[in-house]
Amino acid sequence: MRFATLGLFHEANTFSPLKADQQLFAGGGVFRGDEIVAEYASSSTILGGYLEECRRSGVDLVPLVSAFVTPVGPVTEEAFEALLGEMVEGLWENGPWDGVLLHIHGAAVAEHRPDADGEIAARVRQAVGPGVPVGAVLDMHANVSQQLIDALTVTLAYQTNPHIDAREKAVACAKLVIDAVDGRIRPEQALVQLPLVVNIARQDTNEPPMSDLVDRARALADRPGMLSVSVLEGFPYADVPQMGMSCLAISDGDAVQAEAAARELADEVWRRRVELQAQGTTVDDALDIAAREQGPVVLLDVGDNIGGGAPGDSTVILQAAVARGGRSLVQTLWDPEAVRRCIDAGVGARVSLEVGAKNPHSAGKPVPVTGVVRTISDGRFEEPKPTHGGYRFFDMGPTVVLDTDSGHTLVLSTKAILNSSLQQLLSVGVDPTTYQIVVAKGVNSPRAAYAPIAKRMVVVDTDGVTAMGLERFTYEHRRKPLFPFETPEGR
Ligand SMILES: [Zn+2]
Repeated sequence: MRFATLGLFHEANTFSPLKADQQLFAGGGVFRGDEIVAEYASSSTILGGYLEECRRSGVDLVPLVSAFVTPVGPVTEEAFEALLGEMVEGLWENGPWDGVLLHIHGAAVAEHRPDADGEIAARVRQAVGPGVPVGAVLDMHANVSQQLIDALTVTLAYQTNPHIDAREKAVACAKLVIDAVDGRIRPEQALVQLPLVVNIARQDTNEPPMSDLVDRARALADRPGMLSVSVLEGFPYADVPQMGMSCLAISDGDAVQAEAAARELADEVWRRRVELQAQGTTVDDALDIAAREQGPVVLLDVGDNIGGGAPGDSTVILQAAVARGGRSLVQTLWDPEAVRRCIDAGVGARVSLEVGAKNPHSAGKPVPVTGVVRTISDGRFEEPKPTHGGYRFFDMGPTVVLDTDSGHTLVLSTKAILNSSLQQLLSVGVDPTTYQIVVAKGVNSPRAAYAPIAKRMVVVDTDGVTAMGLERFTYEHRRKPLFPFETPEGR
């Protein structure tokens, strides 16, 4: 049996002006052939799972091309067509194939293709023909369209947020594709798109209502004849028609059963719609809490959620903490210019400069600081444990640690990297457990790493392109009605 694996994995925040262009992909990660094996085989990612199961089952898995960037705005037409063109050409030139394992996120948007994942899947389907099973594991934040499902044979999704089951789901997906190729199963998929958005602060699958909904999906999947059932949270910062929650069921040979299972789960999700909304704590209240509690208190900076497409350079919390005169705060800040100035000054040098918030979609203002450069690093670190998404190798680019006179520590980086691993700080000699406040840029992605060290975690309702209050954004292309913006009649 001979399979191809390939993909373009991107989560697009359509409110970010920063486009995923060819340059960004080249710097973020386009891997080809054996480079894919080297980068991902030992990781807990989707590709790690595909590689594992194919090796175990004796399937010859041919890695073609895999493109990834940290979430930003839509993919440019040029980058999308170049990468998808390469994918399709790779399929043509190296085929025929018995099966395909696709590496896509599910919330990609291209400038000219609002349903970018649907487009990728459709063109892959076209390239391999109707009879070849094609499987994909989607991120739980996928905004799933019917076009996407129609092009795929089996579609699974992470059922954890933070996402720690990517590899496990990829193994399951590869098994289903192998079974479909062998004729042991005949997958029938059903998708129900809900007129519903879940707030980013209610997406943790370790607590209700999401924990209950994931349990319900699992119970439905355990019924005889069912192959898989998933609840998808969707990604609210994409102004596209397919944005929102969805339920996805796969049965063995029975389309009616698949449809019934997806509907049953969707009805349960809908019943919990009010619980799926949230309000956060203001910056002032969060700093009050942090001042009262024993540290470290982890403040989750929702508006500057790097995993959701924010720049990672918001100074909203830092600014407020400095204004209060509070000490002992640590955080990362994407600021290539400040990094260069600190590197020029050298380790041990005193510097005065403005940090953060230097981009059109930054939240807050640049903050003037004076401090001492403690460390200069190449910004590479490795996370051996599965944290959000399962990635292993990280690269912040040139990075410096700056201890400010006001008692704060800033880890200034050249690239914005998710705060999903403690190694990000530990690798540059910063121990977050020794600080009163740790600012983590994200909502769910930092939890797997930071919950074990946090005395308390506070979701802070900050400004930015990933703010939790969706009324801050102007949507033009989303479906209507969509709860909580509107309440649909008759549901
Ligand atoms: Zn996600």
